[in-house]
Amino acid sequence: MTVRTRFAPSPTGLLHIGNARAALFNFLYARHHGGSFLLRIEDTDRERSTQKAVDVLFDGLAWMGIQSDEEPVFQSTRQERHAQVAHELLERGLAYRCYCTAEELKDMRETAMAEGRPPRYNGMWRDRDPADAPKDAPYTVRIKAPHEGETVIHDLVQGEVRVANSELDDMIILRADGTPVYQLAVVVDDHDMDITHVIRGDDHLTNTFRQAMIYRAMGWDLPKFAHLPLIHGPDGAKLSKRHGAQSVVEFREMGYLPEALNNYLLRLGWGHGDAEILSRDEQIRLFDLDGVGRSPSRMDYAKLLHINGVWMRRADDTRLTDDVMERLSQVEGVDTSDATRARVLQLMPGLKERAKTLVELAENAAFLGRSIPLPFEAKAQKLLTPENRAMLGRLATQLEALSPFDGPGIDATLRRFAEENELKLGKVAQPLRAAVTGSSMSPGIDDTLLALGRDEVLARIKAVAHE
Ligand code: GLU
Repeated sequence: MTVRTRFAPSPTGLLHIGNARAALFNFLYARHHGGSFLLRIEDTDRERSTQKAVDVLFDGLAWMGIQSDEEPVFQSTRQERHAQVAHELLERGLAYRCYCTAEELKDMRETAMAEGRPPRYNGMWRDRDPADAPKDAPYTVRIKAPHEGETVIHDLVQGEVRVANSELDDMIILRADGTPVYQLAVVVDDHDMDITHVIRGDDHLTNTFRQAMIYRAMGWDLPKFAHLPLIHGPDGAKLSKRHGAQSVVEFREMGYLPEALNNYLLRLGWGHGDAEILSRDEQIRLFDLDGVGRSPSRMDYAKLLHINGVWMRRADDTRLTDDVMERLSQVEGVDTSDATRARVLQLMPGLKERAKTLVELAENAAFLGRSIPLPFEAKAQKLLTPENRAMLGRLATQLEALSPFDGPGIDATLRRFAEENELKLGKVAQPLRAAVTGSSMSPGIDDTLLALGRDEVLARIKAVAHE
């Protein structure tokens, strides 16, 4: 059997990280087993399923590096096929027309509740002679639920889950306007797409019992199911806005790398020994459903930030520079010409060591594109005392004389200057850093000066030394 999995989001306007994780698990499972991963857009709610909402899904998945192996299926285009299955069940006597009015259904619910029974449909049209049907009255199509026995699902994550069939009622599969219901659409699509494994959030577990009825009635094999525990907030409550970001776009805007979000989401609810940082290739090699835990996972934003830092340090300098330049182009007062880009690229090894997000990285790199007079942070301002400004003036003369202006030369000059002035190296380097970056923190001072280049360094020092 060739594994075929799918991610079947409804376009809600955002790609929630719980869904993104389901997508990732489906993708990795298919890759691990040499199968295919498919995408189905469940867009039957035409009002919510705008092009924009669909694009959010495509963009989010593309950013996460999760590609479908076949053209995406749009559920709304398959309504005729869904209805056809309902009619087939009707013809075979496995479904029936129900002419109950809204009023009758309401009475049914109220009576059941008054008698302390769950408010289910009582099957009033199940065995009734169709000749009794009111003429030209609207009807829904209901599937005949089994009354005896139980339905057992061997879930690959949850284990054996069972429900007594007496708990299931004759659910509607076609509405009075002829449109198919969601449960029918999912089953028909999964069947027609030859899906072998349905991996989804465990909020769909109860749907699975209802969907099983349709598979059985049609005589179709059930796929294997794997219901993933949901992601909760750090406090164990349902993940919500008050906990922090929840959607893929938000994390992207906050400066997270897709590798980091993928890596974090994978580890959230799946484990393989103590493997923590895993590349996509390693994920594919190691992922299987037996590593998925049964209890809900708790979102740990601090851990995600840490993992992002790790992936930032591993990331390619040119790629990070491109991202930083893009972000800096939105910042006023920062030049983003090729000259600045070259500086950013040169200093990237040091910059990426010190930032946990791309946002922070861009903030830390901004000084490279600023012009004199630099804005000074409070801590930097404090370092620029009159004595230090005078000292920097003397240092400038020595740096001016340095040729070539290279790493070893800068290092030797600063050390010699510190010695001559009976200062610790840091007492020279810190005011110097403040003068050329506007901040009290930057990559190593030698690298920082080198990235700026001699002329810019001297201009920046002189701007404060002569004040
Ligand atoms: N469209 C459903 C959702 O977005 C998922 C259905 C499924 O995976 O079976 O929650």
